[in-house]
Amino acid sequence: MTTAFGQSTVLGYPRIGVDRELKKAVEAYWAGTIDVDALESTAAGLRAQVWRTLHDARLDAIPSNTFSYYDQVLDTAVAVGAIPTRFARLGLPALDTYFAMARGVDTEPALELTKWFDTNYHYLVPEIAPDTVFTANPAKALGEHAEARDLGITTRPVFIGPATFLLLAKGDDPFARLDDLVDTYAAILTALAEAGVAWIQLDEPAYVADRTPAEIDALRRAYIRLGELTHRPRIFVATYFGDLGAALPALLDTPVEAIGLDLVAGPGNLDRLAAAGPLAGRTIVAGLVDGRNIWRTDLRAAIAAGATVAGLADHVAVATSCSLLHVPVDLSAETRLDPRLAARLAFARQKVDEVVLLGRALRDGTTVLPAPLPPTPAAWHHDSVRGRLAALRPADRQRGDYPVRAARQQDRLRLPQLPTTTIGSFPQTTELRKARAAHRAGRLDDAGYASRMRAEVEHVIRLQERWGLDVLVHGEPERNDMVQYFGEQLDGFAATEHGWVQSYGSRCVRPPIIYGDVARRAPMTVEWSTYAQSLTSKPVKGMLTGPVTILAWSFVRTDQPVADTADQVALALRDECRDLESAGIRVIQVDEPALRETLPLRKADQKAYLDWAVGAFRLATSGVADDTQIHTHLCYSEFGEVITAIDALDADVTSIEASRSKMEILDDLAAIGYRRGVGPGVWDIHSPRVPPREEMVEALHRAVAAVPARRLWVNPDCGLKTRSYPEVEASLRHLVAAAAEVRGH
Ligand code: GLN
Ligand code: ZN
Repeated sequence: MTTAFGQSTVLGYPRIGVDRELKKAVEAYWAGTIDVDALESTAAGLRAQVWRTLHDARLDAIPSNTFSYYDQVLDTAVAVGAIPTRFARLGLPALDTYFAMARGVDTEPALELTKWFDTNYHYLVPEIAPDTVFTANPAKALGEHAEARDLGITTRPVFIGPATFLLLAKGDDPFARLDDLVDTYAAILTALAEAGVAWIQLDEPAYVADRTPAEIDALRRAYIRLGELTHRPRIFVATYFGDLGAALPALLDTPVEAIGLDLVAGPGNLDRLAAAGPLAGRTIVAGLVDGRNIWRTDLRAAIAAGATVAGLADHVAVATSCSLLHVPVDLSAETRLDPRLAARLAFARQKVDEVVLLGRALRDGTTVLPAPLPPTPAAWHHDSVRGRLAALRPADRQRGDYPVRAARQQDRLRLPQLPTTTIGSFPQTTELRKARAAHRAGRLDDAGYASRMRAEVEHVIRLQERWGLDVLVHGEPERNDMVQYFGEQLDGFAATEHGWVQSYGSRCVRPPIIYGDVARRAPMTVEWSTYAQSLTSKPVKGMLTGPVTILAWSFVRTDQPVADTADQVALALRDECRDLESAGIRVIQVDEPALRETLPLRKADQKAYLDWAVGAFRLATSGVADDTQIHTHLCYSEFGEVITAIDALDADVTSIEASRSKMEILDDLAAIGYRRGVGPGVWDIHSPRVPPREEMVEALHRAVAAVPARRLWVNPDCGLKTRSYPEVEASLRHLVAAAAEVRGH
């Protein structure tokens, strides 16, 4: 048996299939239209395809156990027996218990879903109770390893490492259970060794964020303990998404054979490595190919970095910076991309070739590299946009004084106390989706589609009037996705046909690619908003996606500072705001749900990010007059860490997810002296449950205690596109009644 690590590897590979085969099979299984055998055979086919692809590409260290029916953190929870009692006692078959944890059942809500570090992937948060008994359950990993071996392919099973697993978990101090959990990992390692597994990969990305000395020391102890096992596979500890910092010397104190460093997101890792002293007997797995973006690697720069590592370590292997889970599967499926753009792109399959090439080049030094790319085409540059960017002044990001704005807005809007509104979208019904599909397929012409959408807008306006809301929305029926919709209308963006990336479970997204200077060709939303406004005397909110969120959910160019790209998007939105204003729209909401998501993992990097993020939002929203009311909307996260940045956005009104956290955000805002409008969500729209009026009244009483009533808005936690009309009607009627009741007090 060979025990060398190999020259080249990937930390993981997309499991969804080129055509989202996994999504389709899993959803069919949930719907009851295929049985477990059919599901398992599709899954086995997808796994075999991935291993063959990697093997045929001559990648020489191939991962397994990276397949997942839902999420790799959930898989690790199952592998260590961390199945909460509330699911175990349902008495379901193993796969159905697994899906119950992922999706919930009637009687049990699912595990919490949250963002995976600073990516748009979501994992299921393990629940660790004091009575959780960890037990080794390596069946899945053993099964995948054996499946690949039957194909003649040797693989390296991958798990989330024990320290990261507990740092991601919730419960009563889960990290205190590390020693226990390490025993279970030891049992898994032993079982794998007995099955002939030569190498195992344990992912510890939690250590690229700021960690306490105690947490770093615990990491050291955990890997010393695992390293000292007499019968075990060789251990590769993978880290990614940034600089490992002080955790690198800690890992070097342990007997692990290989350590993976992200040299794309964490260039500082090179200096750390140089400072670390002797690396004898150690393999460094150098993450040189970006696993999170879709640009081709600068191979010459990568070789230089690889050579530096080679000068320090006994053995270097080339890898992707993180799992390829975060990029689409295969560029060759794209037939409509501009060839000049396609020539610059690498999806997962192409990145494997880059890794293999780099591995070879580092070993023999004679590999011929492809010619560097020609400069970007002139057509991708917009001199006018660049000119505007260069001429920006601080005043362009500054609105008038808030008290003056507030008074002018109230003069114009004449809203009652505790005004009611919604976040933007109304239910995306099957009919709407069908109309969109028919339009895309050419079965419904532009005029037919537009009239179908206008009818929907009218319907939504009438409903809101009937239910008594104060500030109305048009319902966003024309939008496929809040980023894609704008990407399709802006220069500098490209859409893919098959560029799917897993977001969570069976959900996939197709992020646009920002490749050139961003410019607005024409107004993007004005027609819809003014049509909606023409139907009612109540104010209709214009609805835009903010620059930070547009960037967070796209693949962004790397040939200029991200702050410049954000400002280019902001300028397009600024023009859109002005056009909405001129067309008579008095309230404009600019959504920034991703503001917290892309916050850098280390404190030291956060200020620079928040500076450009806030600056871009203000650039987008500061071009309007004092009497135009700017709203923003934030969700999907806890916002405590970015509370001062939220204030700095200077929006007149901020609607924010709050119903699950019981309005705590209001105390955070009060603590920093926030004094503008705020709409803490009083209805958790992530659940089909209709909140009773009394519950919203109670939430509003809590809110009024923290914020003066004249600054308080009443709204749901987020848009309503995933809800059904019966739920929406009942809940919004309760919401309006609750506002009226609290107003009367
Ligand atoms: N305006 C968007 C909607 O209502 C906001 C979505 C979001 O915050 N994710 O759908
Ligand atoms: Zn939201």
